[in-house]
Amino acid sequence: MIYRIGYALTMAFRQRLSLRRYNRDLTLQCNSVVELDLHRLKKQGIKVLVLDFDGVLASHGEAKLTPNVENWLSKCLQVFEAETLFILSNKPNLVRIQYFSTHFPGIRFIVASKKKPYPDGLLQILRLTRRAPESVLMIDDRLLTGVLAAVLANVSARLITKPFTAFNKRPISELFYLSLRTFERLIF
Ligand SMILES: [Mg+2]
Repeated sequence: MIYRIGYALTMAFRQRLSLRRYNRDLTLQCNSVVELDLHRLKKQGIKVLVLDFDGVLASHGEAKLTPNVENWLSKCLQVFEAETLFILSNKPNLVRIQYFSTHFPGIRFIVASKKKPYPDGLLQILRLTRRAPESVLMIDDRLLTGVLAAVLANVSARLITKPFTAFNKRPISELFYLSLRTFERLIF
């Protein structure tokens, strides 16, 4: 954990110009996954979607998706093929993996030996899909985990700026993640 924070800060400093671009360029951001223009992404050459879980598909700690996000994922499966969709979460717990294998059997959950911002999970996806890095898109709500991993793996990314939250259900952890996101966005 401590090593990962050290790594994140060192790499964030080295890649600060790229991170600043994701923090400021509105074309590299999106409020929520459900607002992503899938056809446009495809036209731009995106072939593989890599989705973060917490904040991006559901609020922190949830195992299931809301009907709204489920619908969006079904739409994703019509535009992209199932074998080109991946979930790359730092918390790939069994309940979530089972939920996906039941509801969205084609979508693969990647369990990397090193968590984001280490690029390992994305490099694994590049090996699996044999796609050019720029045609792979990481979608994440954190600059210092998912977006940094994308920068380090040379893949494209979108920063989700209005992640799903559940302040009434988990006020402490939501507050914690809100302060992390705010801090990340203030320093770049
Ligand atoms: Mg997240």
